Amino acid sequence: MTVIRGATTIPFDDQEEIKKAVKELLEQIESRNDLKRDEFVSIVFSLTNDIHSYYPAKAAREAGFESCALFSAQEPDIEGGLALCIRVMVFVEANFTPIHVYLRGARVLRKDLARMNIAIDGPSGSGKSTVAEELAKEFGIIHLDTGAMYRACALKVLESGIDLENETKIYDLLLKVKLDVDYLGGVQHTYLDGVDVSEAIRRPPVSMAASKVSQYRSIRYHLTEKQREIAGKKSCVMDGRDVGTFVLPDANFKFFLTAKPEVRARRRFEELKAKGYDVDYDKILEELIKRDEQDSTRAVAPLKKADDAVEIDTSDLKIEEVLEKIKKIIREKI
Ligand code: C5P
Repeated sequence: MTVIRGATTIPFDDQEEIKKAVKELLEQIESRNDLKRDEFVSIVFSLTNDIHSYYPAKAAREAGFESCALFSAQEPDIEGGLALCIRVMVFVEANFTPIHVYLRGARVLRKDLARMNIAIDGPSGSGKSTVAEELAKEFGIIHLDTGAMYRACALKVLESGIDLENETKIYDLLLKVKLDVDYLGGVQHTYLDGVDVSEAIRRPPVSMAASKVSQYRSIRYHLTEKQREIAGKKSCVMDGRDVGTFVLPDANFKFFLTAKPEVRARRRFEELKAKGYDVDYDKILEELIKRDEQDSTRAVAPLKKADDAVEIDTSDLKIEEVLEKIKKIIREKI
């Protein structure tokens, strides 16, 4: 007999969320341990006291695990315990070394994986922000979009009228301004002196200015420090241009996303159009190529694939396909 342990979390107490999480957890236990359904002898669930809307055992039955004994129990309310958590013990007839499975927010229960940093780099429009956001949700960790920090700095420079060529003045300004990131409902918000600039930094003129200020060594080192500080405290998916090579050279996982310039420009065009901006595809393509050139050829921490990063060309892939590839690589190791 072998016992496999596992746990996962749900974002809020909801029947559909429980069904989805239980199905995912059991299927992961099944595939990672190379099991067949009829090898499951029994499955015992325990759930935290803040879950009332459905029995995980029922969800397991609905997910097709119906031939084994199923049982659900509720845990006492432990102060400081992980919230909205479903734990499982799976009993299997055969004897083997089990692979325990901890998903989403429950990963923190695995001390050996307590700090996980995933670096995702690539040029503009390669899909890294979307992928990073989804991965962060999947693993219950934060997503730090480093581009937003360069954008916030650029926005401040544009607003203050300082010449974009004047590194000294820009650095002085950056030292005076309070640049913070925070998370609301899992989504990153960027603040300049307490004002939420998350929307303003996405305006097209800010992109080129961000690429300009990001060339300056003083600015890069200042923001890199902040990024390392955040990653040092919490597990995160960090996306940018230099995360795998410079900010977090020891990241547990590194990915480098690419795509043809025309595909990336088309994505950016659709994204900005959907937000109501009056945009021109040819101009976006032209600026994107210029920005790539500027980002790849700068002296300090240029846009570059780390030697140990996995490169994925996303030109002909849907975002779900990119995510699947990345999740598979991560899950094989954790
Ligand atoms: O990723 P995003 O397009 O928001 O980034 C804006 C600009 O910030 C990039 O063109 C790049 O010049 C700069 N950047 C950087 N290093 C990072 C992230 C962004 O130089 N890690």
